[in-house]
Amino acid sequence: MTEATFGNPQVIEEEVDILMIGGGMACCGCAYEIMRWIEGTNLKVKLIDKAAMDRSGAVAQGLSAINTYLGDQDPADYARMVANDLMGITRDDLAYDLGRHVDDSVHLFEEWGLPIWKQPGDEGKPLKDGGKPVRSGKWQIMINGESYKWIVAEAAKKALGTDNIQERVFIVKLINDKNDPGRVAGAIGFSVREHKIHVYKFKACLLAAGGCVNIFRPRSVGEGTGRAWYPVWNAGSTYSMAAEAGAELTMMENRFVPARFKDGYGPVGAWFLLFKAKATNALGEDYLTKNKALLDQYPPYGQAAVPASCLRNHVMMHEMKEGRGPIYMDTPTALAKLAETMTPKEIKHLEAEAWEDFLDMCIGQAGVWAGENIEPEKKASELMPTEPYLLGSHSGCCGIWVSGPTDVGAPAEWSWGYRSMTTIKGLFTAGDGVGASGHKFSSGSHAEGRIAAKSMVKFALDNKDWKPELDTPIQELVDEIYRPVRNFLEFKDYTTAIDVNPNYITPKMLQFRLQKIMDEYCAGVATWYQTNAHMLKVCEDKLEMLKEDSLKMRAKDLHELLRAWENYHRIITAEAHMKHIQFREESRYPGFYYRMDYNFVDEENWKCFVNSTYDRKSKKWSVKKVPHVDLVSKPT
Ligand code: FAD
Repeated sequence: MTEATFGNPQVIEEEVDILMIGGGMACCGCAYEIMRWIEGTNLKVKLIDKAAMDRSGAVAQGLSAINTYLGDQDPADYARMVANDLMGITRDDLAYDLGRHVDDSVHLFEEWGLPIWKQPGDEGKPLKDGGKPVRSGKWQIMINGESYKWIVAEAAKKALGTDNIQERVFIVKLINDKNDPGRVAGAIGFSVREHKIHVYKFKACLLAAGGCVNIFRPRSVGEGTGRAWYPVWNAGSTYSMAAEAGAELTMMENRFVPARFKDGYGPVGAWFLLFKAKATNALGEDYLTKNKALLDQYPPYGQAAVPASCLRNHVMMHEMKEGRGPIYMDTPTALAKLAETMTPKEIKHLEAEAWEDFLDMCIGQAGVWAGENIEPEKKASELMPTEPYLLGSHSGCCGIWVSGPTDVGAPAEWSWGYRSMTTIKGLFTAGDGVGASGHKFSSGSHAEGRIAAKSMVKFALDNKDWKPELDTPIQELVDEIYRPVRNFLEFKDYTTAIDVNPNYITPKMLQFRLQKIMDEYCAGVATWYQTNAHMLKVCEDKLEMLKEDSLKMRAKDLHELLRAWENYHRIITAEAHMKHIQFREESRYPGFYYRMDYNFVDEENWKCFVNSTYDRKSKKWSVKKVPHVDLVSKPT
């Protein structure tokens, strides 16, 4: 065999029964659970992560709270909260099912060593034995979570065995079955460390590669490049690969625009919920209370005890646009109030908690405080709405349309046999991949991975004798994946400046182009999140050209090859987002985006899901309405 080189990688083929793509919370849940169901079956499973599981995905830096733990609350209430926060259009069957399962994952985390804060008197008493957690909100509990991902990954690795885990392999494509285009049969990716391409054939696959960041120009540019709220390594692989395989996407118009500490994108949850801080305008006014009339314009979502996240942004932006910015988190008043009943030692402890909240999960924000001489007990910090992100497990609900549970009274069309399976046979998803739900967070994504595990094992056993056959010759796929490398090798000597070349475009430049298009035409920060049909048409044309030009990306090393394919995934995801916004003729999420030509919520005509499919061959999207049904009574 000739030695593998940069231009000529070694191709390794492998067949398993079940493949997991991603090593985040959902796949860790799946890895742990699946071993219990495959015992005695001879099924072979494997997990692939583009990074190292210990610190991969959105929980990489750690977290300071688990945002979904029900305790003795009713899953129907949880489903109601999810629906209200996402402006009424969610799958109650999925939310309810998650609500009734999620706590078990949290109990496991505690068993594996995650420190969970307990109420006085209950210290040391496990949650599952009735220990009462410190709740920062109705659904959230506080943790010492710097090593959260490490702990969860360790349990997944131990269950699966390191031989069944491959890290630092970026999956580029799913491959459909030769004899059934509605079925998935394989996946292909490349090593980001060695000159190797990996081809996997399987019966079933869990695609859980997180959400999508960096399709919009971030607020942090220049010296701040690389900072974003959403972790920069999730590049829309879940949505783009599913779409290209033919799976139906849902609610891709939804996005999340978190209002966070400015520049460091630090978390606000503990400040609002635990420290009871208030956000104010520059005049010190509590703008949420002041602007109640604005919230009343969006019943029932603006009138709930906790108004929908997008509407909270809506009133914040109103203040900024009216000239009453900056917006502040009033940390001094909150800490002073808490300190009224505390000893000096307790006050010091409280201040330490404020820092630890950042150090646990967003170290960069602690850096901003240190660098700008901000002592939170003395000086308020600015808040800012970020650039938009696409995700399905946090406060967003874009994703893939999946088969739900059969026992909660959902319409028959919402369930086609195997729980968590997409509309493509054998392709399952969880966490950020599952659309029309949301608010699952870390614990819920783990639980959803476990739900999918059980279901995939059933699918694989029901299809025991089926043999996957790929619909595309492997060499064709290899040539496609290594095209950016070959673009580089062929043309690199054409000029003397490596980055300036009429024959190729660097992934970095292509990414800037994508971000500029989305920012300026698809409701990014440049236009205060506003767009209209004309702007979307420009966006559509420019994205089409960008997709064509993406074939000219170059990769001068494996790192750039990764960047090139991340960009491709981002373009497909961005296109889905744009097409859905174009289709939905209303502004369902004021504060996240506005269709200025339909600047209202239209409950009569648009309280429905929007679903889409992509045709890989023609490169065209089909978008449609799907009826929404409320399974829990109206949000309270
Ligand atoms: P992830 O955990 O993000 O995992 C995705 C995985 O896919 C990663 O391992 C990644 O390396 C891999 N991957 C990506 N692309 C590819 C590819 N092409 N090939 C192979 N592998 C790939 N939850 C809480 O409970 N409390 C909180 O306080 C909280 N704070 C959050 C703060 C932020 C900034 C964010 C973004 C999320 C937060 N969450 C919180 C939510 C939680 O982190 C997510 O819900 C959860 O991580 C989603 O799990 P997932 O498995 O879908 O994705």
